[in-house]
Amino acid sequence: MHSHPRSAVVTGSSSGIGLGIAEGFAAAGMNVMMNGIESPEEIRPICDRLADEHGVRVAYEPANMMTPEGARDLIASAEKAFGRVDVLVNNAGIQHVAPVEEFPEAKWDAIMALNLSAVFHTSKAAITGMKTRGWGRIINVASAHGLVASPFKSAYVSAKHGILGFTKTLAIEAAENGVTVNAICPGYVLTPLVEKQIPDTAKARGITEEQVKRDVLLAAQWTKKFVTVEQLAGVALFLCSEAAENITGIALPVDGGWTAS
Ligand code: NAD
Repeated sequence: MHSHPRSAVVTGSSSGIGLGIAEGFAAAGMNVMMNGIESPEEIRPICDRLADEHGVRVAYEPANMMTPEGARDLIASAEKAFGRVDVLVNNAGIQHVAPVEEFPEAKWDAIMALNLSAVFHTSKAAITGMKTRGWGRIINVASAHGLVASPFKSAYVSAKHGILGFTKTLAIEAAENGVTVNAICPGYVLTPLVEKQIPDTAKARGITEEQVKRDVLLAAQWTKKFVTVEQLAGVALFLCSEAAENITGIALPVDGGWTAS
């Protein structure tokens, strides 16, 4: 076993999947640098709770992952707080739903900046330390939409497919240095990001919110169950384990069979 607690950075961890992963990491004894767009005052109670419950250090940095400077600042403040970044989870992401001919240019650019370019900028800032120490884990939260498309999500689907290309490239660049780089491809998880889409979809299709859940969101998810943030935290922890030392450059679906058919 390693003698020091691992230090992790989880982007977009004030809510949803990122929060679930941050919580799973804290429970496993890691120090965690959380991140999101909310104010530090809003997130401090969560940091304090995780730190108290699990006896680890938990900090929060509201750096904007849409900019290269924000991504670099986040890694720098984690290095300052904990001395190192052993695990980086690139999770921050947004969605916009519209047909291509109506898709706002600004939304395309924002989704590319946050969902794809941020993965490059944080990884670039964190990889040298990981390689030098001979151990590291980068986990990119892509999506089933990194493997297959749905209509009206052109920017999101493009960015998530792009993550898989970046994941493979960095994985082979860092392979001899004890650093693995993998992507997780979740199906639908009931987080604020998804819940926001339900009333609009119900209105657009003239159906109830329950019908949206079963017949639209879970239509392709054969288990007919939403993926949970606890399950994704478990998968991320597995990728951090020594058992996963030789797993690198993969896109791991956690999607109830969606991409099997
Ligand atoms: P969410 O909306 O619950 O949380 C998004 C997080 O990102 C928040 O912590 C927010 O503060 C942060 N964020 C937003 N803009 C930011 C910015 N500019 N800089 C830094 N942080 C920012 O979303 P979620 O559903 O938990 O999604 C997290 C990731 O998982 C996203 O990349 C998403 O694409 C992916 N994903 C979600 C689902 C799903 O069904 N929810 C499925 C597959 C993949």
